[in-house]
Amino acid sequence: MFDYHIHTSFSDDARSTLDEVLATAMKKGLDGIAVTDHFDPFYYDDEYPWVLDLPAYEAALAGAERTCAGKLSFAKGIEIGLIEGEGLAVCEETLSGFPFDFVIASVHHTARAPIHTPEFLRGRTQQEIVEEYFTALLTCIRQYKNYDVLGHLNVIDRYMDSYAPAGLYMDTVREILLQAIGDGKGIELNVSTFRYGMADHGTPTPAILALYRELGGEIVTIGSDAHEARYVGAFIKEGEDILRAHGFRYVTTYRNRAPSFHSL
Ligand SMILES: [Zn+2]
Ligand SMILES: [Zn+2]
Repeated sequence: MFDYHIHTSFSDDARSTLDEVLATAMKKGLDGIAVTDHFDPFYYDDEYPWVLDLPAYEAALAGAERTCAGKLSFAKGIEIGLIEGEGLAVCEETLSGFPFDFVIASVHHTARAPIHTPEFLRGRTQQEIVEEYFTALLTCIRQYKNYDVLGHLNVIDRYMDSYAPAGLYMDTVREILLQAIGDGKGIELNVSTFRYGMADHGTPTPAILALYRELGGEIVTIGSDAHEARYVGAFIKEGEDILRAHGFRYVTTYRNRAPSFHSL
């Protein structure tokens, strides 16, 4: 079992230390993990500063790699927040400065506002909300290529009263998936939805996963998106079941930004 989306206290919204995460992963007998703390340049939010202490983070990842040698496959990861504009160049530069193994690209914030806030959501139709979110992602990945998988694709559903009907966004999602596949990139199956009691499936939805498969997509990582050590490895098995049910034969891990495929 591989958990490829984990936050530690290097992220503003997570509490457990990297050591606690490693200890839990070993105790639970996971085969491998990727620690993927947040790096969101140009993220404006009153609640969190969203600043990653990169030198300290990189030193901690390098230390964790040594700690895990021979015990647990450890990937030095990061979850970058794509925002249209100058942030993309900052991501590019940051990733060139350290040998990360694995990079998740997510959209947490558009040019307007953080996607979970009233500034983004209030007074707008579902159509307007999902259109802005998915279009922002598509715009970013048309020009920005330094990532491995797209994080929690339809995460925007989490912040609305109900899941948006697929018809509102499937054309744009098709463009996103074709772009990612054409660039040799993958997607993640984020299983935090189980923990939040939101749905009996992960993110992306079954319909998006099926489309990805139909379009020839093969690269999928599974991540708990744990923000506390006790959730490391949570619902990864359910994620594997979902992938099998959609006809995927492998789950993917990364080393030095190169994918490895493990039979399901
Ligand atoms: Zn995220
Ligand atoms: Zn995350």
